[in-house]
Formats: sequence, C-alpha cells, structure tokens
Amino acid sequence: MVPRSARAAARVRERSLFEVFPELRGSRVEAAVLAALSPSADGASTTIPQSESRAPFPLREAGSFDGPRIDQAVTVTPFRDGEQRFCMIEIRDVSGAVEREKRLIDHAESLRARSYVDGLTGIANRRYFDVALDRELRRAQRAKGELSLLLIDIDSFKAYNDHFGHQQGDACLSTVAQALAAKLKRPADVAARYGGEEFAAILPDTSLEQARLHANAIRDHVAGLALPHAPAAHWPMVTLSIGVASFDRERLHEVPALIEAADKALYAAKRGGRNRVVVDGDASA
Ligand code: GH3
Ligand code: MG
Ligand code: MG
Repeated sequence: MVPRSARAAARVRERSLFEVFPELRGSRVEAAVLAALSPSADGASTTIPQSESRAPFPLREAGSFDGPRIDQAVTVTPFRDGEQRFCMIEIRDVSGAVEREKRLIDHAESLRARSYVDGLTGIANRRYFDVALDRELRRAQRAKGELSLLLIDIDSFKAYNDHFGHQQGDACLSTVAQALAAKLKRPADVAARYGGEEFAAILPDTSLEQARLHANAIRDHVAGLALPHAPAAHWPMVTLSIGVASFDRERLHEVPALIEAADKALYAAKRGGRNRVVVDGDASA
C-alpha cells in the first residue's frame, strides 16, 4: 500500500531529504539524520520520541488527500559503505497502536467513573454508599433487624485548607478516612466518603445506643491522633462531629428519612460546639 503523499522516485532521486520534505528542517528527524551522517556517529539507531512529534512526515492513509496524518514511529540507523556514510530512515505506521492506546485510556476512565472506590482516600465512594445503604435498609426491613447510620464531618476544615493548603488538606482527608475504616471491624460495616470532608458509616445489626458508642470511639480516636489544626479552627487538633440515626419501622424506614435524621443530629453536634456525637432523639437533636 503506497501512502497517498508518496513521491515518485524520479522526483526525489539526487535531491536532499530536506528539499523533498522542507518541513523537516529544524526537526528531531533532521537532528537524527545529521548525527547519523557525522563522522562521530557510532552506528547506533536513534528513535524519535513519539512525545516530540507523532507525525513528522506528511504521510496520510492511502486514498486520503487531506485527512489527518498517520501516526509514525521513526528510527534513523547509520551505516557505512567504504568511506561513504549513509543512514536508513524507517517509518512505521503506528496509527493502530495509538488508536488502541486511546481506547484503553478511555476505557480505564469509564471504569474509574463506574467504580465504587473514592480516588483520593481509597475507601468506598458515594456511589457505593448509596447502593449499600439501600441494600442494608431492605435487609433490615425483611429481617426485622437493626441498622444504624453515622454521618461524620470534619470540623473547621475550610480553616485547615486555608492554613495548610489544599494538598495537605487532601492528605488529612486520607488520614481521617483510614482512621475511620480501621475503627469499623465487622465485615458488613461500610465506611464511605460521603462527599467533600464528610464521611458516612453504615452499621448493620447495630442499635442506636451501640452506634453512639461506636461513633464516640471514632471521634475519640481521631481527636487522639492530635493532628495539628489551623489557628482559626474550633479545636487545636483535627476533630469530627458525628450525627447518628437508626432504622425504625415507623419513622425511619426509608433512605431519605434516615439520612435526614442523621444529618439533623450532625447539625446539632456542630451547634453544640463540634468534636461531639449527637444521636437522633437526643434533646439537642
Ligand atoms: P464545619 O466545622 O462547620 O464543618 O466547618 P467546615 O469549614 O469544615 O465546613 P465548610 O462546609 O465551610 O467547608 C468544608 C471545606 O472542605 C471547604 C472545602 O474546600 C473543603 N473540602 C471539600 N472537599 C475537599 C477535598 O477533596 N480536598 C480538600 N483539601 N478540601 C476539601
Ligand atoms: Mg461539611
Ligand atoms: Mg466540616
């Protein structure tokens, strides 16, 4: 298959490469050719990095006059014949490989988008949380079991970012996520990043009072890490406020109602001074 922009032999014989392809002047191809022809050339091949130029020669797919250039892998190899120096320029059409690479990258992107793992912290993401809470709530309803939900929010985190910078903020989010996950011991428990600096824990077979104990253990553990906080923060170390609510046949038997009750309790924990746990039904909630 002869590429469309091939030049007839009669038009290129005896002419310099750079007369035939003037646009190669000053390019990596020219540098590689000049190096290959110089007396100090050592016989090794040079491969033009694809990152520099994917299509240095004006070659297009057969049959195409003005379509995009084909992606090229160019290698320049010096050789001698007596005193004369030559070089061989190999151009391989790598359009197929480049296209495959693009498809793989797109595929990896879409897998990430569909995955259940939060990219920053490595714990479950909001998508997983939504699926898991729905599943566990149905299970609790069927089995007449118990189920508790913790909504957890880092205190004064805007001040943390403002003081330490967003990158350290990200690192802090990861540390808190790991601490949370480490405190949830049962296989059915779920620790998830709910969004921003908010986390959630789903605790199947756990009553409201048991959940209060878990929440306090988590809050206490994170405060005990004594991660320095910003001067403008409510507390000198990184702390959590936690709202707790439990599945209840009459009142909290649907996902939105359960989340709303936990969120209300969380808000009460904030109002009450932060670094505290408030449980749905407490006087302050
Ligand atoms: P409060 O104690 O009332 O919760 O105050 P707060 O400052 O934590 O709450 P606010 O909602 O005002 O600010 C939340 C901050 O969390 C602001 C936002 O920039 C930060 N944040 C959210 N997501 C991320 C993230 O992925 N990385 C970092 N570094 N910061 C984040
Ligand atoms: Mg928040
Ligand atoms: Mg916050």
